[in-house]
Amino acid sequence: MIIGVPKEIKNHEYRVGLTPASVRELVLLGHQVLIESNAAIGIGFVDADYQAVGASIISTAKEVFTRSEMIVKVKEPQAVERAMLREGQILFTYLHLAPDFPQTKELIQSKAICIAYETVTDKYGRLPLLAPMSEVAGRMSIQAGAQTLENSSGGRGLLLSGVPGVSPANVVILGGGVVGSNAARMAVGMRADVTILDRNIDTLRSLDKEFQGRAKVLYSTREAIDKLVPVADLIIGAVLIPGAAAPKLISAEHIDRMKAGSALVDVAIDQGGCFETSHPTTHTDPTYIINGVVHYCVANMPGAVARTSTFALNNATLPYVIKLAEKGYKKALLEDDGFINGMNVMYGKVTCKEVADAFNLHY
Ligand code: NAD
Repeated sequence: MIIGVPKEIKNHEYRVGLTPASVRELVLLGHQVLIESNAAIGIGFVDADYQAVGASIISTAKEVFTRSEMIVKVKEPQAVERAMLREGQILFTYLHLAPDFPQTKELIQSKAICIAYETVTDKYGRLPLLAPMSEVAGRMSIQAGAQTLENSSGGRGLLLSGVPGVSPANVVILGGGVVGSNAARMAVGMRADVTILDRNIDTLRSLDKEFQGRAKVLYSTREAIDKLVPVADLIIGAVLIPGAAAPKLISAEHIDRMKAGSALVDVAIDQGGCFETSHPTTHTDPTYIINGVVHYCVANMPGAVARTSTFALNNATLPYVIKLAEKGYKKALLEDDGFINGMNVMYGKVTCKEVADAFNLHY
């Protein structure tokens, strides 16, 4: 198969769809890999690194899209990339369609076969291609939150850990899945006062077992959130209903009741965000302030630690890229009940129920 890897064009996005090590595996299996020139320059790989493992270096994205049977990317295709997709071409990348009607519409129009990393499941129903980026974003959310609480960011001027004689910051984590548990590990490690909320009893049990009282673990109800909001210094939004827009757990009224200079990090912003006042921001301008509360809502957090993230992503995606290349999309998806869940749009039809429901489209 001819596999194309364009350079990512989203703001401050330095990750790349395939590392040289992944390309080497594909080339050894007899596939051809076309990589856009300088696609991985931001993570320290030059064109010669890709040539050394057998990739062809292509000077423009247009040529990569035109010549490839499958496009492997990281972020959802931007408008200019969507215009280059064609009928029957495989697109394998993050899509996050439920909160993004323009993208959904244009992928339908392209008639391409659009497989989203974030809705592929494994035999336990987990999300193996979202997990590595969730691990990165979860760990980063505490770094970002700590910085957001600094005076220079408009924060309360709090050190997460406190110091002897001064209380640590109060950190509330909404959702205890991959993002939330990784955030909790960092926050507990930094000696903040941590509370994690979730609705899944098994998740609560395993968090309770892991943290052994070093983090409070609560069932997520409106009442629990109402009580925690006024005392929180930092709230991390880490909920997910797979494929669907994030539920709004924190309303504008909640924001009015928060302390001035407290901070929100909405990791779930890529699914529309779980705070009513969230809107996506970028690494160039990551925060904004509403009623004194500092919001950090960067939709591609792992892009800031692109080298770590690219390796982590490739560790998870490579087996799936190989399946698609070796078997073709039909056989690869039909043989694997979890992989087929990744199919979001195909030949002009939405094939993911949550995306169809989000826009009242026929499924
Ligand atoms: P996950 O499925 O592992 O965890 C989500 C958790 O939310 C689950 O445990 C679920 O039970 C819980 N949940 C659902 N409804 C809830 C509610 N009402 N109250 C409390 N908990 C609730 O998902 P994840 O991998 O941790 O991802 C979380 C979000 O972070 C997703 O939207 C994902 O796309 C996003 N994400 C964003 C970035 C970024 O750069 N901004 C990076 C990676 C992941």
